[in-house]
Amino acid sequence: MPASTDIAILPDRAASIVEAGSAGGPVKCGKGSVAGSVSQRACVFCGSRVVLYPITDALHIVHGPIGCAAYTWDIRGAQSSGPQLFRNAFSTDLQELDVIYGGEQKLEHALLDLIAQHGPKAAFVYSTCIVGLIGDDVKAICKRVAAATNIPVLSVASEGFKGTKKDGYRAACEAVQHLVGTGDTSDIGPHSINLMGDFNIAGESWVIRDYFERIGIQVVATITGDGRVDAIRRCHGAKLNLVQCSGSMTHLAKSMEQDYGVPFKRVSFFGIEDMAAALYETARFFDSPELLDKARALVAEEVAKIMPQLSAWRADLNGRKAAVYVGGAFKAFSLVRALRTIGMTTAVVGTQTGDAEDYDQLREMCDPGTIIVDDSNPLELAKFCLAQDVDLFIGGVKERPIAYKLGIGFCDHNHERKECLAGFVGMLNFAREVHATVTSPVWNYVPRRAGAAHLELEEARS
Ligand code: SF4
Repeated sequence: MPASTDIAILPDRAASIVEAGSAGGPVKCGKGSVAGSVSQRACVFCGSRVVLYPITDALHIVHGPIGCAAYTWDIRGAQSSGPQLFRNAFSTDLQELDVIYGGEQKLEHALLDLIAQHGPKAAFVYSTCIVGLIGDDVKAICKRVAAATNIPVLSVASEGFKGTKKDGYRAACEAVQHLVGTGDTSDIGPHSINLMGDFNIAGESWVIRDYFERIGIQVVATITGDGRVDAIRRCHGAKLNLVQCSGSMTHLAKSMEQDYGVPFKRVSFFGIEDMAAALYETARFFDSPELLDKARALVAEEVAKIMPQLSAWRADLNGRKAAVYVGGAFKAFSLVRALRTIGMTTAVVGTQTGDAEDYDQLREMCDPGTIIVDDSNPLELAKFCLAQDVDLFIGGVKERPIAYKLGIGFCDHNHERKECLAGFVGMLNFAREVHATVTSPVWNYVPRRAGAAHLELEEARS
């Protein structure tokens, strides 16, 4: 296997790439992208939009040019069990004249009209790059409209240029904080949680909520998947926050710990091991043998349902290699474990928003020689996939064309997907998709493998 250092890398990017099992300093991460490196990472605005968008009964309006709204429209495959208002891509559609004279009036009129038409529970106003440049006073407008309409109108300081996607997560958390603590908590029981950082992609929050409710735990709010403004208002009454997507929600969880004394735990709902651990850890937190027994029974029941099929697919997938490039580190950890469950190894793994400790953990858990990368670009990813000769690429919408152009199977594990991949049922769906992709004979006929397939055929004939 060629070492990653055999591949030409921009000098400023070198410290963001390491190999598991080899010496080297900490992974350089959490910085703005290197100039000249066409990052796979989204902008600040996109970061805040993807976090807040699944709040279904709120109005979401993008203050900026229409392109920013189109870029993030319906970007998550988030499902709603009720309101559909969130699916609209409202925008002030700023034009040249607005850039010269300011877009404040346009925003105020748009907000008043839309709130009158749709009667939302709250409104989020996202600032984009252009608003940061022309200096519209979005906060002042939000305050005026809130007073006039009597609903929370929250400004999201998410000018695209001012940091990384992670800064967008923070801006989203700061906006949500204004809702927390404003609702009635009187009927919240002692065994109660909030699910944070699960976005109900393909109905995943419903699956997870069902597991917790089956073992006797009350789910007060899902933040933000299938989210409701009223549930978020009272979520400070829950006794524990479970944070799945730590990059997006740790800021809110820490504020709630500080302001309301609600502790939090980082968990993952992807893969058998991590899903089971989330249930056990929660039961242990409440120090209840009864909850723990129920959690054990649920895990045993769910694993028994999926294990025979997983074992059959594992026999076909044993020893195959995957590349993983996702937004957050916790999802990367889960994917490394889930791939092991079905017999596969991870040969390349990277994230858009991981921190130094996350990368240390990836170095520890991955096999020696695994390439670990922060804030990668298409050229690097393509080269790493070819160098490691992977059978599968797991990523999101921006990674799909890289995989297909190289003739590599692809599995979408990002927020655009329409398949439930969380929980035990999600593990089965994930394994089915991986198996179908990796074992498809089509990959033997793409240029990078065609030579080897031809030789095998010749050998079989002789
Ligand atoms: S970088 Fe700026 S212009 Fe581009 S989508 Fe983000 S906010 Fe809009």
